[in-house]
Amino acid sequence: MIRTKAIVLNRFPHKENDALIYFYTLDFGKLVLTARGARKQSSKLVAHLEPFNFVDLMMIKNKNGVSVGSVISQNSFLNLKNDYNSLLLSGKVFSFFNQHVKEGQADFDLFIFLNNFLKTINDSIESVKSKSLKDLDFLGDILKFKLLDLLGYSYQTSRCVECGCDKNLNFISLNRGGVVCDSCTNKETINRSLDKINHLKINKDLLSLKEFVKKNDFSFLLDLKTDKNFQNFIKRKINYLNF
Ligand SMILES: [Zn+2]
Repeated sequence: MIRTKAIVLNRFPHKENDALIYFYTLDFGKLVLTARGARKQSSKLVAHLEPFNFVDLMMIKNKNGVSVGSVISQNSFLNLKNDYNSLLLSGKVFSFFNQHVKEGQADFDLFIFLNNFLKTINDSIESVKSKSLKDLDFLGDILKFKLLDLLGYSYQTSRCVECGCDKNLNFISLNRGGVVCDSCTNKETINRSLDKINHLKINKDLLSLKEFVKKNDFSFLLDLKTDKNFQNFIKRKINYLNF
């Protein structure tokens, strides 16, 4: 038996009676495991293996690999599961997470990110419930932005990536990985249509909002006003990374 804490990312039917479970575990990172017999009516596993559950997971090793031995949910985040807005937001964040986090690499910060996210939503259910779809979309993008930062896709924004100066930083260059000052941006590059799509006009407000989002826990960002400019920056970045 191997024991760890885990968060259930997703669950799929597998063969006649089994289920395939995507976990993010504290000690082994993302794992995809078979839960034998989980879809039999008599199975006690199934309620513990719902997506978003925080569980105590026991794995067993056999000749076919590793599978779910037993599992006990420690937190099922029921407020979250009973609210449409929260499910929508969590579904988006978890699917982005599942797509971009690779299997088998433990990362404590990623585990904490997921757990904090679930806890925050579950504890602030009234606030999430009352959000418009537009504000929910913004929240989703903020979470993706924080996740990208944890995954190492963050841009240098305090100094020009070309010359190192800290004046007149008016553009962010997606392909150069950070802000570029006016004199380095200039003329030919920004006018070449191919490079134009990789440049985004920015300002001080956007940079300070970016730092604020990066530094603060999700619970402090829950009621942040939707900022179109910042959201556009996140969407462009995700697009550029082909995510
Ligand atoms: Zn420069």
